[in-house]
Amino acid sequence: MKKIGLIGGMSWESSALYYRLINEDVRDRLGGLHSARCVMGSVDFADIERMQVAGEWTRAGEVLANEARALERAGAEVIALCTNTMHKVAGSVEDAISVPFVHVVDVTADAVRAAGVKTVALLGTRFTMEEIFYRDRMRARGVETLIPDAPSRAAVDHVIFDELVRGIVRDESREAYRAIIERLVSDGAEGVILGCTEIELLIRPEDVAAPSFASTSLHARAIVDAALA
Ligand code: GLU
Repeated sequence: MKKIGLIGGMSWESSALYYRLINEDVRDRLGGLHSARCVMGSVDFADIERMQVAGEWTRAGEVLANEARALERAGAEVIALCTNTMHKVAGSVEDAISVPFVHVVDVTADAVRAAGVKTVALLGTRFTMEEIFYRDRMRARGVETLIPDAPSRAAVDHVIFDELVRGIVRDESREAYRAIIERLVSDGAEGVILGCTEIELLIRPEDVAAPSFASTSLHARAIVDAALA
């Protein structure tokens, strides 16, 4: 088993979920007392969020590249970034390391395609929904994304930053997400990507009628695939 390096803290609520999912998967696949060999570099999310809002993506990329280098020095043999949004600077992270990097968009796109879905709704932070880094990479792998209208994007983003990353899970927000997903499905989406690592804390597959593609679960599984390859 290779040692996994996780760049976490964005937010720690979802990093905790990654840690649990990865260890459960290793236990299920290897049995007995097996658990994941892993090391995490967990940043202060307040610093990262400030850089996001200020548009200081180059600086944020340098911070995460430094975390990745530290993980490699700590023995990580495969590295992943535990947030969708910060994959905007995934290139800086990949350039900083010499071990494989497990990219969340590739993993999620492959799962969507494998399910036979061509057009999929995308929920995530405003950066993930509105900027090209996520949707273009999806398109390059044969998946078209539909995003909510502007007021709904603001509502989805608000729930992430004001609730989920703070550990607040509200039924009203789940209902709001469900209504937004249903509208996107009536607009032609055949499924929905939960494209923010905290959304799984709010929405479970049984909460939506359409197939859902939960980025944290898919990413965690792919990280274990890489570690056990
Ligand atoms: N964890 C979130 C994501 O997957 C949002 C936090 C962030 O802005 O990095 O995009």
